[in-house]
Amino acid sequence: MSETAVVWFRDDLRVHDNETLAAAVEAADTVVPVYVFDEREHAGEGMFGLSKRGVQWGRFRREAVVDLRESLRERGGDLLVKDEVEREASVRDPVPAPEAVPTPEFGDAGESVPTLAELGHDPDAATVDDRGVLAFDGGESAAMDRLDAYVWEGDHLREYKETRNGLLGADYSSKFSAWLAHGCLSPRYVHAEVGRYEDERVSNQDTYWLVFELLWRDFFQFQFVKHGADFFDPNGIRDVEKEWRSGPEAREAFERWAAGETGIPFVDANMRELNRTGYMSNRGRQNVASFLADALAVDWRMGAGYFQARLVDYDVASNWGNWAYQAGVGNDSRDNYFNVLGQAERYDPGAEYVTHWLPELDGLPAEYAHRPWRLSEREQREYGVELDRDYRAPMLDLEARYDEL
Ligand code: FAD
Repeated sequence: MSETAVVWFRDDLRVHDNETLAAAVEAADTVVPVYVFDEREHAGEGMFGLSKRGVQWGRFRREAVVDLRESLRERGGDLLVKDEVEREASVRDPVPAPEAVPTPEFGDAGESVPTLAELGHDPDAATVDDRGVLAFDGGESAAMDRLDAYVWEGDHLREYKETRNGLLGADYSSKFSAWLAHGCLSPRYVHAEVGRYEDERVSNQDTYWLVFELLWRDFFQFQFVKHGADFFDPNGIRDVEKEWRSGPEAREAFERWAAGETGIPFVDANMRELNRTGYMSNRGRQNVASFLADALAVDWRMGAGYFQARLVDYDVASNWGNWAYQAGVGNDSRDNYFNVLGQAERYDPGAEYVTHWLPELDGLPAEYAHRPWRLSEREQREYGVELDRDYRAPMLDLEARYDEL
């Protein structure tokens, strides 16, 4: 059978010293070279409201792609140039709910849905801490209420991209994930509602961004269809050998991470939120995953397994796909580590989030609330926060670690 390889050119717009191209030519009978222009990478909005790339960068890139195509043509090939897969993807309209569902008479309709205890859960653990962002009531009715509250009543969609990295409160992001994961809410319905909102209220980068995030969800679903069980391999879907710790010391480190007892407040606050509510923001998930897989080098699958056992919105593809990505064994081989301390100070500058979940640090100035190990003994007495009495001393010198990198 003849083999075809696809070579996706990104920042390697050349034929000389191009390992990927050379390997594809060596291994396959035919090669399909592809380049995809991404508008967002060009004039899309970057940090501080500046555009992501300048016109000179854009001009150079265009010329480089044209030149690459020429080089491939000289070698009897060609370059397939596309400008976003996304535009060509169509989303079908949601199917209306049937008016009536004719059902035969049941003798016993199974009125008694099994209790949590009968299903093997501890019912006492189901009580959600009222500090959580939302109650997350199960079911389609609650999904519709949430969509209505977030999109229409609250009118939050117009600022979604701006606020989605938030940490506190119901409305910094949609919180649709649990309903999507359980199938109580159709992603196509959300897509249609975004379209209606854009027609009736406003259409901007923020409204588009919710659809863009749903595309990530789809992306991971497709990746699972493609790679299947490889996502559960320590090296994920990549052929990279990483040294993951999984012995007794790693187990101990994992237990501290899981319990929110690392002594790194931003990690602990997020883990405690997860433990007490079943939810954690996307920003939090990325940081705690990075801390476990990167800073502690603990087998990332323990973290993914822990999320699986805790998340109200657990979804196999989104969870394992994001974890693998964060651990550098998923869809991106680049080092995806997060500077957790920098992230904490950027996304929680006043330390409101950290003290929300770690009230023992309440009253500390933000700098100390994020880095309590910097408190001198005198300051510990003054603020009434003694390390290893009121709050754990850090299990790792993160500052030294980030200085080294
Ligand atoms: P919003 O910001 O409002 O996004 C809208 C929807 O887009 C989400 O509900 C979700 O369906 C989708 N989405 C957003 N970001 C992502 C993403 N990175 N990957 C896939 N879909 C995304 N999401 C899950 O639904 N289930 C999981 O088990 C899960 N595990 C994760 C594990 C890790 C380590 C990380 C980094 C992310 C994980 N996510 C998971 C993705 C993301 O964190 C959540 O979907 C999001 O935080 C849910 O909150 P929201 O509905 O308010 O999101």
